[in-house]
Amino acid sequence: MRSIKRASRRLPASLRAVPNSVPGSGARFLSTTAPTSSTVTVNGSTNTSVTPISSVLIANRGEIALRVARTAASMGIRTTTLYTDIDAASQHAKCTPYALSLGAPSAYLDGPRIVELAKQHGIQALHPGYGFLSENPAFAKACEEAGIVFVGPPAKAMTDMGDKARSKEIMNASGVPCVPGYHGSEQSVEQLKAKAADIKYPVLLKSVKGGGGKGMRIVRNAGEFEAQLKSARAEARASFGEGGEVMLVEKYIVRPRHVEVQIFADRRGNCVALGERDCSVQRRHQKILEESPAPLLDNVTRKDLWDKARKAALAVDYVGAGTVEFILDKDTNEFYFMEMNTRLQVEHPVSEMVTGTDLVEWQFRVAAGEKLPLTQDEIEARILERGAAIEARIYAENPEKGFFPDSGTLVHLSKPQTNEDVRIDAGFVEGDTVSEAYDGMIAKLIVRGKDRETAIRKLELALREYEVVGLSTNIEFLKRLCNSQAFIEGDVETGFIDMWKTELFEAKPTSNDVFAQAALGLLGTQTQNVPAAHGQALGFGEASTQNSRKFAFRVQDDASTEEGKIVEVEVAQLNNKLFNVSVRKEGDDKPQVFENIVSESTSTTAPTSSAKKTKLTTYFPLARVDTTLVQDPADNEKLTVFQLGHKTQLRLVSPVWFDKALGLKEVAASVVAPMPCKILRNEVEEGQSVEKGAPLVVIESMKMETVIRSPQSGVIKKLAHKEGDICKAGTVLVMFEETEESA
Ligand code: ADP
Ligand code: ADP
Ligand code: MG
Repeated sequence: MRSIKRASRRLPASLRAVPNSVPGSGARFLSTTAPTSSTVTVNGSTNTSVTPISSVLIANRGEIALRVARTAASMGIRTTTLYTDIDAASQHAKCTPYALSLGAPSAYLDGPRIVELAKQHGIQALHPGYGFLSENPAFAKACEEAGIVFVGPPAKAMTDMGDKARSKEIMNASGVPCVPGYHGSEQSVEQLKAKAADIKYPVLLKSVKGGGGKGMRIVRNAGEFEAQLKSARAEARASFGEGGEVMLVEKYIVRPRHVEVQIFADRRGNCVALGERDCSVQRRHQKILEESPAPLLDNVTRKDLWDKARKAALAVDYVGAGTVEFILDKDTNEFYFMEMNTRLQVEHPVSEMVTGTDLVEWQFRVAAGEKLPLTQDEIEARILERGAAIEARIYAENPEKGFFPDSGTLVHLSKPQTNEDVRIDAGFVEGDTVSEAYDGMIAKLIVRGKDRETAIRKLELALREYEVVGLSTNIEFLKRLCNSQAFIEGDVETGFIDMWKTELFEAKPTSNDVFAQAALGLLGTQTQNVPAAHGQALGFGEASTQNSRKFAFRVQDDASTEEGKIVEVEVAQLNNKLFNVSVRKEGDDKPQVFENIVSESTSTTAPTSSAKKTKLTTYFPLARVDTTLVQDPADNEKLTVFQLGHKTQLRLVSPVWFDKALGLKEVAASVVAPMPCKILRNEVEEGQSVEKGAPLVVIESMKMETVIRSPQSGVIKKLAHKEGDICKAGTVLVMFEETEESA
């Protein structure tokens, strides 16, 4: 490790000059989080004392709490986690021997209570994770006053950077370029509007307190200024409270890229940049893909970004992990400081992958008073060696419905194999519930490859093995992003998803073997003596030598061109593992027939979620196909098929309904036998009035009973068969009195 002297000598003159030119920089080496007060000088002649962290309270939840706990454990740090009532059984609450209860769902934000708990339990340090209290200077200060080491930057740096207007003043003063705009305190509508006119439309209104894209509005022209200001202020007020209505007016960059730099500073004046991350692929101003290095970025700009980021950090006497966010104008190639996040960021693993570091370990070491483990030169050498990394955030949300958040139980969860280059940071396991009370991020999948293209390909392959049932996720959408030519070429900008939405959301056909596999899988569960919820089994009479079953599925998948269509599948079992399968999609003249295919399946019931899962391998004429079929425990007719890295959602529909839906047996005012069967009994009498859905006839086929229900309300005119009659498919069973409607 190099000396501090050497490290500071490396800094360009402009950087070295920074601390002295900024007001308040005298406090630079007096960390607010130091366990013992100590002083150092820039040339390192005096050292801070090092007090190793031996116990920590993690004031967060989910994947980040687990991730911090993992590193803490590896460093021999005794770890305590916190949980609210709804999180009592969650993974982060269970991962440590010590876990303390907080109660209400919002209690992760209860700073005073959390400090009190740390004191009570004699815990030395506190790690805030991200979100919640991580960027709250009052909380950092409270920790400090209670003698608890806050694993994060000094409260003062947070205060300086927490306000978007103030941070921009500091940056401008220290030579870090900011987006042209107005950051002043005169906040009248007239003033802001006049400033917008000076800046020139389009402009962006942003709350000084902003975060998570809230309280931000684009204003295209003077005509819509007042309305947009009002709406931005209302949203910011609601999200950030008092002071949220104070707005910045910025030049709106039409084709922006989001490029941020991971920086790290110790208490001895060292500050390094651990490369940059491009986080341009966003929805609702929130990131979903993050990568390092940023694609299509020339090295001069790259190094300039790193230098400006270090300069920004040094300007506020930063200590610990931080991220300096820049906006890069694709039209001019200029970049501007956007904001600094004074915490560990969700996407920090991307930087860990390309630098071969553990940034949480760095956080603990810096908090203990140690010097940064690597110099800028050492980091740069590693970056050159380690290629590219990319992270995909897996969210409980529905991309087809405007990325609307979802919640629910993870009925089935199967993850790709992890290794040195494929990492999963997750907060949930199968059977867990993703609550609407918290952020809907299920997991982060991070992969590294020798170059960007390899990393994207590896990410796509890993996503193909990521299976989730129980709630909507963005996994299928992420796969599409990985396959987008524009993305592969690195042509990213924050409007990427919107720009390419036609391609990204284009429905794709579902191939017939998906339906064949669903039917074979269901047959498999039935022949394993699992009682069928359905009476869809059918036999061509007791005398028949071959068993045959008929299934009907409705495609319930927005990503499929077959969405809403009924698909009829008939499976004939020739012997133990040999089948003929015919698949006919609604609208097709004739079925596609797969003959003599060998198929084997095994069914299990998931211990935590009770989902029925069937794994099957089938040798189709041209290929072997492995499939997982999952039946929702709460709704057996809801099926999810994972096949060749693709997910399809189906609903098993009852034959009566599929016959109707197919328009096959649309004999007015009658109900027909959906399959060859024996009449077990009639449930109604002639002349009786029935409601829609009432049981009419109970039939048997393949020794299974099926209740035929009334497709309509009406009066029974005639029961065509009596108990014991054998009927062919399509035979009329019940006739209704003609009504005006049915006539
Ligand atoms: P930014 O968008 O500024 O880069 P991040 O992407 O790092 O911010 O996300 C931080 C956000 O994550 C917080 O502002 C909060 O909304 C959300 N969050 C907070 N706690 C958690 C958590 N335990 N798990 C997932 N998300 C969280
Ligand atoms: P937040 O605190 O909500 O993260 P930021 O200031 O970081 O707010 O901006 C969030 C996102 O909004 C950026 O990632 C970028 O996509 C977009 N954005 C911010 N400022 C501008 C701007 N001046 N012009 C165009 N887009 C912007
Ligand atoms: Mg931001």
